[in-house]
Amino acid sequence: MPENKCLFCAIAAGSIPAKKVYEDSSALAILDINPRNPGHTLVLPKKHYSTIFDMPSEDAGNFFRTVRKLASMVSNATKAQGINILQNNGLVAGQMVPHLHFHIIPRFANEGPVSLEGILQIKRMDEKMLDKMAAAIKTASSEAASSAVAEEVEEELPERKPSFEPKPKKEEEEEFEEIGF
Ligand code: AMP
Ligand code: ZN
Repeated sequence: MPENKCLFCAIAAGSIPAKKVYEDSSALAILDINPRNPGHTLVLPKKHYSTIFDMPSEDAGNFFRTVRKLASMVSNATKAQGINILQNNGLVAGQMVPHLHFHIIPRFANEGPVSLEGILQIKRMDEKMLDKMAAAIKTASSEAASSAVAEEVEEELPERKPSFEPKPKKEEEEEFEEIGF
């Protein structure tokens, strides 16, 4: 996606408003417009990278330190009992905004645990398949995978329009009440 059409580039440039919670010379953190819990924060580099594979590895360490810092800030601010840090790459993986970002989602004891299994079902695999996968990963290149691979797959998917409309206020408040925030 060209940078001048990218939503998060526009937010980083200040031409689209957002609730900024942190900013430094290379990164920005904003509240998610559709929070999954109070305090749901997105951390993004100011520079446009579509996915994690596009960020130079020499920038990744510094960026991850910022993610870690924001996880602490969100945790302390919300008094969360747990934090999910999520990051999607490619439409098939659920990435709706093609500008690299990490989700920091505070989690509360009274909402019930959601493990990875709650997102993706466990697929049983026999020993042969496990060995095959282990060998393939161990010997695979550690060069950044190409976003182009993800884009090719995306061309085959039926068109999905991202919906970024905030939820109606009332519905949002009821959900917050349920988790006791
Ligand atoms: P992902 O599916 O990982 O690409 O997540 C994109 C996230 O961006 C979603 O959780 C959206 O709710 C959020 N989002 C979309 N538009 C905006 C916006 N203008 N300001 C803040 N968050 C947004
Ligand atoms: Zn961008």
